Parts: sequence; structure tokens; C-alpha cells
Amino acid sequence: MTHIALLSQTSKLDYLGPMLQEAVPALRYSVWPDPACLDADVAVCWNTPPGLYERMPRLRLVHSIAAGVDNILPGTASAGLPVCRVVDEGLTRGMVEYVLWAVLYFHRSFDTALRQQRTRTWHRPTLRLACDCRVGVMGMGRLGRSVAAALRNQGYRVSGWARSAHAIEGVQVHTGQEALDGFLAHTDILVNLLPLTADTRGILNESLFSRLPAGAALVGCGRGEHLVVEALVAALRRRHLRGAVLDVFPQEPLTGDSPLWAMPEVVITPHMATMASPQAVVQQVSENIRRLQQGQPLINLVDVARGY
Ligand code: NDP
Repeated sequence: MTHIALLSQTSKLDYLGPMLQEAVPALRYSVWPDPACLDADVAVCWNTPPGLYERMPRLRLVHSIAAGVDNILPGTASAGLPVCRVVDEGLTRGMVEYVLWAVLYFHRSFDTALRQQRTRTWHRPTLRLACDCRVGVMGMGRLGRSVAAALRNQGYRVSGWARSAHAIEGVQVHTGQEALDGFLAHTDILVNLLPLTADTRGILNESLFSRLPAGAALVGCGRGEHLVVEALVAALRRRHLRGAVLDVFPQEPLTGDSPLWAMPEVVITPHMATMASPQAVVQQVSENIRRLQQGQPLINLVDVARGY
């Protein structure tokens, strides 16, 4: 019998239990903080409470309920545990929609129109063609690649940035740290879809913002810890940046005293860009349990050492 532990210190994951039981024959589940979790052989996680894996002697697999794994990784490398994440068409589609909206918001000057409305100002912004708007996507992974292709299909001039080379028709992909300056210098709207790792934490900082052209905008939908909030606030206040659409924040929920709430240049959304459906999570977790039981290669395996 497989025993799944549903582990989270911030979310209620108990809804997944009955669905997993239906999908996997002979399965039992426990929900943290039930100490029975410590006997489980599979952990299904979001924001795992610290120090748990090492207290789970039977654990053979750590599975995310999401695309990102940063908040479930600590402790997996030392325990030599495989980690899987969710890769899902619907999740990708949600992110594409979110970014298309955010890019249109700046490209078609809806930000300007909304600000003018507050002061009852009637002034028609200049119409810019999509082909004159340069969108730079950081991260050419499952999400970044689809977002870049969708933006290209809408006529935008799209470039990407990743660690390794990617061939995406109509998208110029810059590779590595040494190519970052060139990528940023030609970006009017910067979309962050990097995973959170030791290398990318705090990457949206003063130095990066200063390398964007004056008047550039930010779409932040990777992880909150990529962003140095004070640097963004300063760049917006001195009008170097035009605005930001932010879905993720270093501290979530965003606290009431954050200066971001009151800035007219900023659109705040509550980590809603996209998410995997419970059905997709259950399908992928149960498939990986089947593979684990039959000694087959796992799907959507994460490189734990690399951090994504
Ligand atoms: P992937 O793991 O598929 O792709 C990550 C990409 O980032 C790869 O192209 C990788 O480069 C690149 N990358 C990683 N580290 C670096 C680095 N140091 N320098 C340059 N490029 C780097 O991730 P996904 O596309 O599936 O997801 C991206 C992130 O989106 C998730 O990790 C999660 O944090 C976030 N997310 C946010 C959601 C929201 O609702 N706001 C929902 C879902 C995900 P290479 O290709 O060379 O390896």
C-alpha cells in the first residue's frame, strides 16, 4: 500500500486526498500536521514545513503540486530524493493569457488611460504597432517558451534569455550572464518567468533595472523573491521604469504596508497568473506513483542540484 503525505505549511491540500485515493489503487493518505505523515513513502507538497523530509525514513519521492519547486526543494538533495513537478497544458495556457494581457496593458497604453481617467483627462495616447514593441522574456522553459511564441504570433518583437541555447522561430534567444546586458538593452517590456534558484534570487534589482531602456515596464510572474521591491519602487519613482504588473511578491500575501499598493504605476494581482488544476495534479502524481512502483523513469523530474 502506498502512503502519501500531503505537506504544506501555508495551503490546505486535503482536497487532493480523496481524488488521489480514487486514482491510485491501495492508497492511504495523511495530511500535515498529522504525525502519520512521517511514515509516508510519497510527499505531495507546496511550501513544505522545514526539516520534514529527514524525519520521513520511508520517503521515496517528493512531488510538487505546481510548476515551481523552490518551496519544496530544501532537504531533498541531502536526502537524495527525486523531485517531480507539474507540467500541464492548462497551466501553460493560463500563464500565456496573463502575460498577453499584461503586455497589451503597456503596449496599448491602458496604464496611461487608467491614470488619466482618475484626473478626468482626455488625451489620446499614440498608437504603437506590436512590431515596434520589444518584449523580453526571462526564462525559456515550459512557460517562457510558450509565452514567447504567443507574443511573437501577436506580432511583437520577442527575445528571450536562458542559461542554454533555444531555437524558437522568430524569437532571438540570448544565453548566459554575458548576454544579459544586450538582452535588457533591447527590451521595452520585461517578462520574468525564471525559476527561483540561488542564481536568480534578487535578480530584478537596481542594476538590472538600470540596464533597461528608460520607460521600460516589468511583468513579474516568476517568484516574488526575484524582486528587490525597494529597487523597483525607486526605479518607478524616478520614472526610469514606466510601470509594473506584479503577480508574485517576496512576502505573500502582500502586507498592507507595502508601498506598492499605493503606486498608480503598479498593478497587483494575488499570485493568480496560473495554476495546475487538481485533476492535472492528481493525474501526474498518480502516474509517477505507478512509475515508481514499476521501476520506470519518472515524468517531469527536476534537476535538484540545479534547483529547477
Ligand atoms: P522551467 O524549469 O521549465 O524553465 C526555467 C527556465 O529558466 C529555463 O529556460 C532555464 O534555462 C531558465 N533559467 C534558470 N536559471 C537561469 C539562470 N540563472 N539564468 C538564465 N536562465 C535561467 O520553468 P517553467 O517555465 O515551467 O516555470 C518558470 C517559473 O514560473 C516557475 O519556476 C515558477 O516559479 C513560475 N510560475 C509562476 C506561476 C504564477 O502563477 N505566477 C505559476 C507557475 C509557475 P535553460 O533552458 O537554459 O535551462
